[in-house]
Amino acid sequence: MQVLGLEQFSIAHDKGSSHGLSRIIRLAYHEHGSYVPLLRSAFQLWRELEAETGQVCGAPTRLLWRCTKSKTMA
Ligand SMILES: Cc1cc2nc3c(=O)[nH]c(=O)nc-3n(C[C@H](O)[C@H](O)[C@H](O)COP(=O)(O)OP(=O)(O)OC[C@H]3O[C@@H](n4cnc5c(N)ncnc54)[C@H](O)[C@@H]3O)c2cc1C
Repeated sequence: MQVLGLEQFSIAHDKGSSHGLSRIIRLAYHEHGSYVPLLRSAFQLWRELEAETGQVCGAPTRLLWRCTKSKTMA
């Protein structure tokens, strides 16, 4: 497969929505049944990357999700 990437800024810029010092990846999704298995394999790949590079990429933690009655998830 060939992929063409087009970017308006120089590579490794800080203007994308993916920029930032921290990210959250959570298993608490209910959009589609394939989502959680996909995420589990992503976690596995992160662990493999950590083993390959010797760098820690993530810190597993617990998540408490709160919302008001008017903002219940669909
Ligand atoms: C404040 C914030 C916090 C978030 N936190 C999380 C989080 O913790 N965990 C999580 O999973 N998700 C999070 N998200 C959502 C996640 O960051 C985005 O869904 C994801 O990063 C989007 O990736 P992307 O590659 O589509 O977009 P981007 O990372 O924004 O990349 C789009 C790229 O396209 C380039 N571009 C845009 N228009 C053009 C054009 N016309 N020509 C050339 N290049 C162009 C931009 O410069 C940019 O580099 C967060 C989003 C925001 C805004």
